[in-house]
Amino acid sequence: MPIRVLPEEIASAIAAGEVVERPASVVRELLENALDAGARRIEIRIEEAGQALIEVADDGAGIASAELVLAVARYATSKLETREDLFEIRSLGFRGEALASIAAVSRFEIVSRPTDDAKGASLKVEGGRLGRVAGRGAPAGTVVTVRDLFFNTPARRKFLKSPATERTRITELVGRYAAAYPGVAFRLLSDDRVVLETSGNGDRREVLAAVFDLSTARGLIELVPPTEGPVRVSGFVGPPSLSRSNRRDLTFFVNGRWVLDPGLSAAVVQAYQGLLMVGRFPLGLVMIQLDPTEVDVNVHPSKAEVRFRNSDPVVAIVQRTVRAALLSQGSPPDVAFAGGWGSTDPHRGSSIEWPAADESPPIRHLAPSTLGGGVPLLRAVGQVGAAYLVAEGPDGLYLIDQHAAHERILFERFRSAMESAAIQTQALLDLEPIELTRAEVQRLETLAPSLKRIGIEVEPFGGSSVRVRSLPALLIELDPATAVRTALGDFEEDESGLQAEVDARLAARVCKRAAIRAGQILSLAEQEALVRDLEACAAPRTCPHGRPTMIHISVDSLERQFGRRG
Ligand code: ADP
Ligand code: MG
Repeated sequence: MPIRVLPEEIASAIAAGEVVERPASVVRELLENALDAGARRIEIRIEEAGQALIEVADDGAGIASAELVLAVARYATSKLETREDLFEIRSLGFRGEALASIAAVSRFEIVSRPTDDAKGASLKVEGGRLGRVAGRGAPAGTVVTVRDLFFNTPARRKFLKSPATERTRITELVGRYAAAYPGVAFRLLSDDRVVLETSGNGDRREVLAAVFDLSTARGLIELVPPTEGPVRVSGFVGPPSLSRSNRRDLTFFVNGRWVLDPGLSAAVVQAYQGLLMVGRFPLGLVMIQLDPTEVDVNVHPSKAEVRFRNSDPVVAIVQRTVRAALLSQGSPPDVAFAGGWGSTDPHRGSSIEWPAADESPPIRHLAPSTLGGGVPLLRAVGQVGAAYLVAEGPDGLYLIDQHAAHERILFERFRSAMESAAIQTQALLDLEPIELTRAEVQRLETLAPSLKRIGIEVEPFGGSSVRVRSLPALLIELDPATAVRTALGDFEEDESGLQAEVDARLAARVCKRAAIRAGQILSLAEQEALVRDLEACAAPRTCPHGRPTMIHISVDSLERQFGRRG
């Protein structure tokens, strides 16, 4: 075939593929345009996970009707003038290709009115084919409507994930931007249901409560930006007890733009060293502000990556800021009774507060004799509700979740056995075949080596049946079928499949299953044994899944409650 210059229509479809990968990329581009236009209020409506409809309405500066055609033309932008500007980007957009790309692969309409103009105008584009600009009454601002995304690129449509996944991506994206721009009111409707709504009053913690939930938002630790230097780091990170099974809730914004950056992500994960178990990841919203000449955002059309001119110092400052914030936190969670026992304030999720570091009494720093990860020596006193142990320590009362505590104990035994390559297994004699589902068989194909390393040995038994040959001796009380099904259960896959992490995750799940449950009555001797074993753990304060194993009510707090002290 001879070499030919591609017709404009094909060329723009190819270019569009780089910018518009999925519905969430459309939402991102339109949001960024609205923010660049100085919007104070942005409403996003999607239908069928964005495939049928994506509409973004803002109250920003608007586009003059004479410029509407240019707005949807490729490489047409109002945000860049000279070549030098490219090295000092101060807006979110600058490539002038988003609207053109979106309009090339959808049925597109833009309606806009600049604040000072009496009348607005609209323009339709269908699969890249331009309609006519028509005058039209409209509120000040811009509304972009994108219908039938990828209607003319069926291959792209086929690559989309399930509607639920695409919808989640959009919701997460809007949540991230809402949290990064607390001064802007965001509203997201999915199939006419309000999914997210923020007030735009500038209170970031309030936005985070809408994005996550109230108690998560309360627990977040605010980063204290370095007082000087060219790099400003602000935002929030989660306490170790709120860890996640993947990095999805660890978000970075550089100069107001959401970016994916493995270096930054690794820096924050490292700041949690010793605080999180293997396979668990922190959550956080970390915002980095630096001179725009120090960052290159023109790495990829999707603008999801940046390059720092000098990345080491940036990474170091991020890590130091996060680490400092974490170390300033006291643990375990103390119970403070600000509202009294009978508080009925519906906005208080529970009576458990995570005190900020400066509220904690100084005595905590002179902690009495502690063991392992810092649990003081405890004396078991009794059991409440067949679920919690009551223990007395040198500084008050401890309530221990028996299930979480036992999970932690089993997991650490498991881990130390694995580290010394001494997983004791017990061969099973009664080899009942177990019928697996198709999904379980698939997971078994990849996970069999991990299972074997944690002591669960499985052999095929024809079709989708298997037999369990051995179980780890630590968990010998577990029913073999339950052990296998628990390990192969459906769980959210994490992007990092490091072998050790996969093993740890499997071990944690099986330990959770094997741990004593709430509802089990324990004798005092059993309670004492559990407390002793927990004290001996390296990280006794959380279960392997990151939830607290205990909460603490200090003597001080008791005295206040009983009115013995101011
Ligand atoms: P870029 O954002 O890179 O400039 P786009 O294709 O996204 O490119 O947008 C092209 C131009 O259209 C922008 O430079 C801006 O002038 C205008 N524009 C797009 N969306 C909006 C909006 N919501 N409000 C005001 N102007 C807009
Ligand atoms: Mg843009």
